Amino acid sequence: MPSLTNRQIVLRRRPAGMLQPGDTEPISSPAPEPAVGEALLRTTYIGIDAAVRTWLDDQPGYLPPVQLGEVIRAAGIGEVIASRCDAYAVGDIVTTLSGFQEYVLIRDDLFSTPMPGETDQLAIMSVYGPTGATAYFGMTDIGRPQSGETVVVSAAAGATGSIAGQLAKIAGARVVGIAGGADKCRAVVQDFGFDACIDYKAGDLPAALKRHCPGGVDVYFDNVGGPILDAVLGRLAPRARVVLCGVISSYLTGKQPGPANYVNLLAKTASMQGFNALDQWGRFDEAFTALRRWAAEGRLAHRETIYQGIESCVDALNGLFTGANIGKMLVKVGEPSTVV
Ligand code: NAP
Repeated sequence: MPSLTNRQIVLRRRPAGMLQPGDTEPISSPAPEPAVGEALLRTTYIGIDAAVRTWLDDQPGYLPPVQLGEVIRAAGIGEVIASRCDAYAVGDIVTTLSGFQEYVLIRDDLFSTPMPGETDQLAIMSVYGPTGATAYFGMTDIGRPQSGETVVVSAAAGATGSIAGQLAKIAGARVVGIAGGADKCRAVVQDFGFDACIDYKAGDLPAALKRHCPGGVDVYFDNVGGPILDAVLGRLAPRARVVLCGVISSYLTGKQPGPANYVNLLAKTASMQGFNALDQWGRFDEAFTALRRWAAEGRLAHRETIYQGIESCVDALNGLFTGANIGKMLVKVGEPSTVV
């Protein structure tokens, strides 16, 4: 194998808020040679997920914090270019915790999944991977939307929210998104097929919710927490289900104001439940089978916002917090050999 240079982004200082110059450093080193039991993956796309920012804080979580000096952890996809491992052959497309780097060693472990028969790498990142699985388990296990019910989804133009809302539509619900800005709201309705979308940056969210959800909210799929969660809690329908998927409004500060309207859970005999999609790892095939069927029926759209080059990973990560993405935020670091 010719010698390859692996460009990486490592953590140098724990960020306070958005990432600043000096929090990270781009470095280069020779790409590693796979040992027995390993394969070398050439990264094509790095997924920029909200969770990446949480891993940079020195806080316990479902995965340990990224340590100073380590490559920043992120889920990605790539192609095997050398293998000394029975699980992967050269040319295989594999999703893994690639991190912010151009080459990564993979093993036959929980985090590395070959995607036989699937060549559309954007679809894998947006739908047939953890993002799609998160939307699927949150909506189908906890939200359980019924035909005719009203479902509200926050960060509706984002990766998880855009898929979650479409799953509620497929279940026959009326779906209202919440997103920041007119362009995003247009995409939520036109591209992702929601019935309506509220621009929360335009002001008076409670009044907009009252207008769009006159009979109350039966299911709320919450990606953001904070004042948006509080406003929707104030509008719950009897026996509503609130799906706590994420609290991105707190990831830069670590602070989350308590929702005053939580008492409405009592008044409406409603429930609020959190979940971690990775707990459902053993059911990912179930999710992908259903998602593939709906996509084949033309009922599931996906979009991506793609930054170019490893050096743009930090900007892309900050961009999640300024709302720079519609659909899945990705950084393209290598050309896929199969372009669909
Ligand atoms: P995403 O929705 O594609 O992007 C984040 C979006 O959040 C932004 O585009 C922005 O949209 C919105 N946002 C950012 N700061 C906000 C704020 N202060 N208030 C309101 N909206 C804000 O990101 P994602 O990776 O798919 O993650 C979405 C959520 O799902 C996150 O909370 C994440 O932690 C969670 N998640 C949970 C699981 C799980 O297993 N439970 C798994 C994956 C992801 P606007 O422009 O519309 O504001």
